[in-house]
Amino acid sequence: MTVTTRFAPSPTGRLHVGNIRTALHNWMHARKAGGRFLLRIDDTDAERSREEYVDAIRADLAWLGLDPDGEERQSARLDRYEAAFERLRAAGRVYRCYETAQELDLKRKILLGRGLPPVYDRAALALTEDDHAAKAAAGVAPHWRFLLDHQEPITWDDGVRGPQKFDPAQLSDPVVRRADGSWLYMLPSAVDDLDMGVTDVLRGEDHVSNTAVQIQMFNALADDGRIPRFAHEALLVGSEGKLSKRLGSLGCDAFRERGIEPEALVALLARIGTSLPVEPIADRDTLVETFDLATFGRAPAKFDEAELERINTAIVHQLDYDAVADRLPQGMDAAGWHAVRPNLATVSDAGEWWRLVTGPIAQPPFPDEDRAYLAEAARLLEWGEDPWHALTGALKAATGRKGKALFLPLRQALTGMDHGPDMAGLLPLIGETEARVRLERAAKE
Ligand code: GLU
Repeated sequence: MTVTTRFAPSPTGRLHVGNIRTALHNWMHARKAGGRFLLRIDDTDAERSREEYVDAIRADLAWLGLDPDGEERQSARLDRYEAAFERLRAAGRVYRCYETAQELDLKRKILLGRGLPPVYDRAALALTEDDHAAKAAAGVAPHWRFLLDHQEPITWDDGVRGPQKFDPAQLSDPVVRRADGSWLYMLPSAVDDLDMGVTDVLRGEDHVSNTAVQIQMFNALADDGRIPRFAHEALLVGSEGKLSKRLGSLGCDAFRERGIEPEALVALLARIGTSLPVEPIADRDTLVETFDLATFGRAPAKFDEAELERINTAIVHQLDYDAVADRLPQGMDAAGWHAVRPNLATVSDAGEWWRLVTGPIAQPPFPDEDRAYLAEAARLLEWGEDPWHALTGALKAATGRKGKALFLPLRQALTGMDHGPDMAGLLPLIGETEARVRLERAAKE
């Protein structure tokens, strides 16, 4: 069976770094196996779902380079959930309940107060048809719970956590449908995973208990008895080791504004929380080849923004001109990019260095002996294949200067700065005429 994964965000907000990591791992898992990666929009909550977030999710995935092989929407599949629900109803696997949120809360508190797990007591199972008729006559509609089979032990071999075992009697029968007929997350998700041939469900460990109850839904609905494999990755925490609010608000826009390249985010999120080293790997294929659930640890994955910045700088230094051309200042060509690239922390810094080439530049005042030296430089300037090495070679021979005394006044005269990109790359970009003008001006002032 073709390995099929899915990323299933609810379009009730923007993706944050935790969702992005889940999306990435599902994408890598599918790509490594030559399988399919689906985007499933979990929009059964009509009230909170927004079309603008659906668009933002697509745009974010595109920016990250996580191309889905198909897109599905839960709101377009309500008839499928209805059909599955009818099957479960016919099989006696769903039942009607009427407890209010307050009543349930009270039941929970009483159990907790006695030191017992807050499991739903199935009181509604004892209702008779007359009781249901009375509720209906009073205009009270039921919500529906899935009936867990207490005789069917729940086990799975988790791709990250290893063998898992749950006693169904210790779990509450999950509510699958609200009184207004709308769906909670559990059942539609299981129906979709089966319908769409999802072979691997990879999600955060906050879903472990959902998986436990969903496994019985899968078993109740899977015609061929085949259900997905499950893997739950440890959650993402901030560098201080805590679940942080900040992580929940950090999304693609914020990263893009800070000059973080998608490759940097991907390289970091691909590896944190695993036993593989975090490295500035811009090549997706390398990341995909080394992706392996067996390397995932149980400890929370630490997301360190300083580490992201270091990775980003190293990635920027590897980016090809074609990858950045549309973000560079007007007139900056491949030679310009290669000249300034080693000096950048972010691509947008390129503009600052490019101004040294295009000018105007502000030169510092020079002492008399340097002015004489720069006048000599203007005379000796000759244009060829490698004007910088030709110029410094000729000046060294003519003046006996070396090291800083040889190079620094030239750099200052030609760029106005005492540091910056390699002059051998910059000088050809400044051009012969402008270089001579700058040297002569520095010699005069
Ligand atoms: N919409 C669910 C969520 O965002 C999907 C969880 C899942 O992967 O099944 O939590």
